[in-house]
Amino acid sequence: MPLEFQGAMPILRKLQNAGYEAYYVGGSVRDILLNKPIHDVDIATSAFPAEVKELFHRTIDVGIDHGTVMVVTKEATYEVTTFRTESTYQDYRRPDHVEFVRSLKEDLKRRDFTINALAVGIDGNVIDLFDGLSDLRNKVLRAVGNPYERFHEDALRMMRALRFVSHLGFTLEPETFEAIQEYHSLLAKISVERINVEFVKLMMGSFREAGLRSFVESECYIYCPGLREHGDALLNFAELRGPAIPTERQAWTLLMTMLNFGEEEIRQFMKEWKCSNQLIREVSQMVPALHYRLIHEWDNWSLYQLGRELALSVEYLLYYFQREPNLAKVRLLYQYLPIFSLKDLALKGNDLMSNFDYPRGPWISTTLKALEQEVVEGHLNNEKAVLLAYATDFLKRRMI
Ligand code: ATP
Ligand code: MG
Repeated sequence: MPLEFQGAMPILRKLQNAGYEAYYVGGSVRDILLNKPIHDVDIATSAFPAEVKELFHRTIDVGIDHGTVMVVTKEATYEVTTFRTESTYQDYRRPDHVEFVRSLKEDLKRRDFTINALAVGIDGNVIDLFDGLSDLRNKVLRAVGNPYERFHEDALRMMRALRFVSHLGFTLEPETFEAIQEYHSLLAKISVERINVEFVKLMMGSFREAGLRSFVESECYIYCPGLREHGDALLNFAELRGPAIPTERQAWTLLMTMLNFGEEEIRQFMKEWKCSNQLIREVSQMVPALHYRLIHEWDNWSLYQLGRELALSVEYLLYYFQREPNLAKVRLLYQYLPIFSLKDLALKGNDLMSNFDYPRGPWISTTLKALEQEVVEGHLNNEKAVLLAYATDFLKRRMI
């Protein structure tokens, strides 16, 4: 029994001792069988939410309507979800309502893919009702049951299929792929936020090429924000050689670079994808910086403006253009910058006010900005007297 599962063992045991069934289920079972690191241990049980809450001292209602109760132990927290079925999907997205049931089989039946529909009992035995083990062995991604019905019920599953291809390198079972091709337009019904989560994972997989290729070939991309016209660019993105993209901002930066988007296009596109303002700001800085870095070595001013983390992120992206990143050099260059922010400047706005007899106005920030750049670029020493002399000259020139 893997270590991560052992921690949750007392919870499963307690449920069983109280007369309920309890299993490890979902992504963690799949990933353990694939020898991959796991993030969260999901537990499924025949106990209803109120019954789970009665058994454990500390619980949090995280998704009680969906049957999920978080059980808090000293070491960790675990999501315990009641077996459930999801019935009458009306609009290709979420189920109308979930129904709690006592049967593991019913619960596994509503799961998306055979490799995600395995359960492991307290004894370590794998319960495999849909031949998920054989699909795991053969690296096949297959919908549970009739793929047409399953994607019709919840179209997000199509995006999930593509991101599993990208992460696991599995091939789509032919009928599962045909069903995605057939129903790709149902993605239009899914909220952008939900598609976004899966698309980011799709971009970041180790098998990005296979994942993005299926994304294009199934035509799912057509019903994702702003991508309709960009099938070819997506294929170029797919073909970029290099390791799995480590972070979300690097993924968007590469995508925007391959789509050859300018500042305004980036902002609009990422807004449509409902990305956070911070992410949009970062990517808007990283894209031009990458363009620059592909032609030039770093200079002080670009490094300073980007900041250490974004500069390292950009440098790493050289991999995807058959260039060797030199992260150590970026760290060193950054470390030797004369200042790291305007706060480090030896002359402040107040000093300008007291030394020059001008009314408060934009001249202050303009002057500080000029001083900042001169210091960062190494043209001026960061000393008050030096800066003041430069400011005097600068203002004289500007006021003429
Ligand atoms: P990850 O490793 O990225 O968390 P995961 O398979 O655990 O992958 P989750 O979104 O955490 O994905 O979902 C947990 C489990 O719930 C899945 O393994 C699957 O059994 C089931 N599941 C999740 N989303 C759906 C869906 N849209 N339709 C059917 N079953 C789903
Ligand atoms: Mg999970």
